[in-house]
Amino acid sequence: MKCAVCGEVLIKKRGEIDLRINGKLYMVRDVKFELCPGCGERVLSPEVSQNIFQKVQAREYEEEMIKIPVLNGTYG
Ligand SMILES: [Zn+2]
Repeated sequence: MKCAVCGEVLIKKRGEIDLRINGKLYMVRDVKFELCPGCGERVLSPEVSQNIFQKVQAREYEEEMIKIPVLNGTYG
C-alpha cells in the first residue's frame, strides 16, 4: 500500500501506537499497522480500526498512569 499523504510505500509493522479518539489519547499495544517512512503516517486496516473503536466504545480498556513530556510555554 502507498501513503495517502506523500505516496511513499508503507512498511508493515507491529507494536505500540498512540491514537486520539474523540480528543482522548489511547495507547494500543501489540497492534498491526503500516508505517510511512516518508512522513511517519501510520495506517491501520479497517478491521483493526473497527476493533479498536469498538473496544473504546465498550470501555474495554485498562487505565495506566504514564508520564508524558509536556512543553509548557508560548510558541509561535
Ligand atoms: Zn507518507
